Amino acid sequence: MNQAIDEPGKAIGIRGRLGEYCYSSGALRPLQQLRAWWKKDLRILAYHRVLTLDDPGAFDFDLELVSTSAEMFREQMTMVKQRFRPMRMGDVIAALDSGKRLPADAVVVTFDDGYDDNYRVAFPILRELGVPATFFVSTGHIDSGQPFAYDWLVYMLLHTAAAHLVLPELRMDAPVPADRAGRRELAGEVLLRMKGLDDSEQLLLIGRMERDWNMPRAEAPAYCRPMSWSQVREMHAAGFEIGSHGVHHKMLAKLSPEELQLELRESKATLERELDQPATLLSYPVGGDRAFNDSVVRATKDAGYRMACSYVCGTNPYPLSNRYALRRLPVEREMGLGWFASMLTLPGLMSYPTTSRAVESGQGPACSS
Ligand SMILES: [Zn+2]
Repeated sequence: MNQAIDEPGKAIGIRGRLGEYCYSSGALRPLQQLRAWWKKDLRILAYHRVLTLDDPGAFDFDLELVSTSAEMFREQMTMVKQRFRPMRMGDVIAALDSGKRLPADAVVVTFDDGYDDNYRVAFPILRELGVPATFFVSTGHIDSGQPFAYDWLVYMLLHTAAAHLVLPELRMDAPVPADRAGRRELAGEVLLRMKGLDDSEQLLLIGRMERDWNMPRAEAPAYCRPMSWSQVREMHAAGFEIGSHGVHHKMLAKLSPEELQLELRESKATLERELDQPATLLSYPVGGDRAFNDSVVRATKDAGYRMACSYVCGTNPYPLSNRYALRRLPVEREMGLGWFASMLTLPGLMSYPTTSRAVESGQGPACSS
C-alpha cells in the first residue's frame, strides 16, 4: 500500500505533470533511444489490482491496492508492447544464466497478491495483446477463497453500525465517524498502527473485530476475493507465469526459521501440485527493505527459487547481482499514460515518490497486502 488511504482523488504532483509533458511533447522516443544506448537495466512493473472505479470514494476496500483502471491498463500494455520488449521472467533468468545480454528495453509485468480481477480484467487484456506477465499469489488465500484481512478491516470500518472503535493493542479509543471519508481516514490510521504488531497479533485483532461486529469475512462480496485455483490454472495454461507470494502473506524477515521455511516451501509445493511444474519465482510479501534480509534470501535460494522480487522501487542494471532482491516500478492509480511512459523511459526521475504510509512507519516503499 502506498500513500494515504483517505484521498480517493489524488493529485498527480510534479512528477506526474512532468511525465505527461515529456510524453505529449514527443521527447520520450529520442530519450528512450538515447538511454538504451548507454543504459541497459531490467525494468519490472508491479501491479496489484486492475479495476475501473466509477466512484473511488464509494469503493469498499483499500484503494491503494487498485493500480489502474481496465482502460488505462489496456493503454499501458499496448505501449509496453509497441515501445518496449515485454519478457517472461523465466526467459530473463534463462538469458542471464546463459550469459546473454538482455535487450535494452526489457520489461517484465508482475502482479502481487492474486486478486480475482487479475483473472477477470488483466488476464484477457494481456492475452489479447500478447504481453507476458507473472502473477505472484499467496497460496493460502487462494485455498481459502476469503478476502485479505487488511481489505476486510477497511470494509468493516466503512460499514460497521458500531459507534465506537476500541483497540487497546493499538492504543486507540475513538468514535467511528458517520461519514465515509472520516471512516476511510480512521481505517488508514488503524492500518498504519497495525504495522507495529506482528502477523499473528494483526490477525487476532481483525478476527476479534469480525466477531464483535458480526461481520465475518466469509460473507464478503465476490469482488474482493482472491482468484480460484481453476482461474490460476487457466492463466498458467495460457502461458502466464505463476509465482509464490508466500502462503499467508507474512513478512518473511519477521518469522522464525521454521515459519520462514514453511512459507517458502509450502507455497512452492502447493504451486507445483496445482500447476504440475516447478515453481521458481517468488515475490516477498510486503516487499520493502525490511520485509527480507540475508537470512530470507539464503532460505529462498535454498528452497529452490531462482529469483525473487522485492517491492523496493527502482530498476536492475545488473540483475544477476540482485536476482534475489529485484527492484520494481510500482504502477499507481493516478498515473496517466504520459507519466507511465515517462516512468519506463526515465525510471530514475519518474518512478513513484516514496512518501508513503509504509515509509512513514519506517518500512520503506512497500505494498502491504
Ligand atoms: Zn502483497
